[in-house]
Amino acid sequence: MTETLHIVGGGMAGSEAAWQAANAGIQVVIHEMRPKVKTFAHQTGNLAEMVCSNSFRSDDDEANAVGLLHWEMRAANGLIINTADKHALPAGSALAVDRDPFAETVTATLLAHPNISVNYEEITELPDDGHWIIATGPLTSSALGEAIAMETGADALAFFDAIAPIVYADSINTDITWLQSRYDKGDTEENRKAYLNCPMTKDQYEAFIDALLDAEKTEFHEGETAGYFDGCLPIEVMAERGRETLRFGPMKPVGLTNAHKPDDKPYAVVQLRRDNVLGTLLNIVGFQTKMKYGAQTKVFKMIPGLEDANFARLGGIHRNTFLNSPTLLDGQMRLKSRPNIRFSGQITGVEGYVESAAMGLLAGRYAAAEISGTALNVPPPETAVGSLVHHITGGAEAKTFQPMNVNFGLFPPADAKAGRKNRKTRYKAYTDRAKVAWQAWLDGE
Ligand SMILES: Cc1cc2nc3c(=O)[nH]c(=O)nc-3n(C[C@H](O)[C@H](O)[C@H](O)COP(=O)(O)OP(=O)(O)OC[C@H]3O[C@@H](n4cnc5c(N)ncnc54)[C@H](O)[C@@H]3O)c2cc1C
Repeated sequence: MTETLHIVGGGMAGSEAAWQAANAGIQVVIHEMRPKVKTFAHQTGNLAEMVCSNSFRSDDDEANAVGLLHWEMRAANGLIINTADKHALPAGSALAVDRDPFAETVTATLLAHPNISVNYEEITELPDDGHWIIATGPLTSSALGEAIAMETGADALAFFDAIAPIVYADSINTDITWLQSRYDKGDTEENRKAYLNCPMTKDQYEAFIDALLDAEKTEFHEGETAGYFDGCLPIEVMAERGRETLRFGPMKPVGLTNAHKPDDKPYAVVQLRRDNVLGTLLNIVGFQTKMKYGAQTKVFKMIPGLEDANFARLGGIHRNTFLNSPTLLDGQMRLKSRPNIRFSGQITGVEGYVESAAMGLLAGRYAAAEISGTALNVPPPETAVGSLVHHITGGAEAKTFQPMNVNFGLFPPADAKAGRKNRKTRYKAYTDRAKVAWQAWLDGE
């Protein structure tokens, strides 16, 4: 047994985890397969390469959840966020980054750290002992992916995400929609009312299908599609197969009675289902899509009841290796069946550069505390980092678990008195509360 911390994958999460643990005095080895083994998206051998956009999204730490995550990472001396700040480009209220100097600086900083070394090699097996963090990301190599699936069971590891849009529950018009499960199925009142239904007339349905067919779509990357068409057709592809396909699929109206107009038989029904235990987020059932984000917002707001919907995240389908973390990981991000292994980054079911780096920050600190023989509490759910880790390790619905961006729907509701009056004021209540809680968590270490 060695007291060295091994980190597999030197991306956003692995780089941040190494930095945090090494600064706590732990010897760290990063095992990174690039440039020897390539992925279809990475272009260089640098650590922390940004594979697509150069944006860390909003930097507004008062009214935006991802901006708050930036703030928390800065307060924790995060390498990824501090390096992004150093190489920021003009982008209004967003944090955009000059990608090559950014990755070069992260790489040079880690290589220069006295407690860190980098082995350029692919890891293909799950280690039996020692302290490990696996942060191999959405493009985890096939050999390691197979080894993980052997341990977790194939059903608990996905190779594609199929994300249906997620809506804030409090932005839905309940004068039009009603709660009912199809045929009132369920053994409790809660189960009999597990779905929120949005009814459509024939004219509304036809207009919706036209909009779907006309909408701008995103193309798959080369090498990205294998196997995806089996189980999760995008709704626009279903619509292309026939105008009635959706009415016989996710939009079928059978077994449902409009509570507001019991005599009106809806021509089609869109259903939403709870996406987190708090009930603040709902996903649109079966609505995975490759429509561009602008088109999604326009098309989904045509659904009766969703005219003013706020989206916590929009839909997508991507090559994306991720675990069913709510069933597999404990609050310390350890694999329950092999607690010497932590997972971190996008493979745990968070989504995005910033969220992945944030999970790296936490995993690095957890591992360093464990190696030093001290305990580190899970950050409170009122913080951005805490809201994410609580979501992936328990708050999310395990059956429908899909990768998640940070958003205020993951936080326990704040300042009930502010109500719905002013979104900015409400979000400020969330971020004020989070900053105090995050600082207290950092100070308590
Ligand atoms: C095509 C594509 C486009 C994306 N676009 C965006 C975007 O625009 N914005 C955004 O925020 N997010 C985007 N993402 C998601 C993005 O990948 C993550 O947000 C972020 O990079 C995840 O960080 P990570 O550290 O978990 O994984 P990564 O940053 O991917 O790092 C994982 C590292 O592990 C290495 N590795 C894999 N397997 C092994 C192995 N067996 N042994 C050793 N090393 C291994 C990889 O080479 C890689 O360096 C995109 C993802 C993909 C696939």
